[in-house]
Amino acid sequence: MKRRLTVHFPRESVHLPITYRLAVDFDIAAKILRAQIAPNQSGTMVVELSGDIDELDAAELWMERQGLRLDRVPGEIRIDPEHCIDCGICASICPSGALRFESASQRLRFDAPRCLVCEQCIPSCPLEAISLVLES
Ligand code: SF4
Ligand code: SF4
Repeated sequence: MKRRLTVHFPRESVHLPITYRLAVDFDIAAKILRAQIAPNQSGTMVVELSGDIDELDAAELWMERQGLRLDRVPGEIRIDPEHCIDCGICASICPSGALRFESASQRLRFDAPRCLVCEQCIPSCPLEAISLVLES
């Protein structure tokens, strides 16, 4: 199964070889969707993990023991139909295919269950029609 996490690194954990340890110790493939980590500073990484559910649980526990903070349900992406002009720019950068430009209708289509909530589409929209709605 797949699981998407936002991983927050404290300064002392920035150099941890996370993706290597996940692969070797837990047989988990880690696809980094977004990362903002500078050497010797804290950082954030959005990552999609693929593997056995028990190994995913064990890997999360291991990461938390390394001092990393994990956000498992950050929210969901919303497209504002009042502002979207169906230009298709966001669909061209969406890694999961959740955003798709349908040529027949010339409309943007959003398949929410496919969304990884990687947030890459948000800054791509020239009309700021895409937002992240955080779950309480
Ligand atoms: S957050 Fe945006 S770019 Fe990322 S998967 Fe979802 S729709 Fe695609
Ligand atoms: S980039 Fe913005 S305006 Fe263009 S299709 Fe996507 S949501 Fe709509």
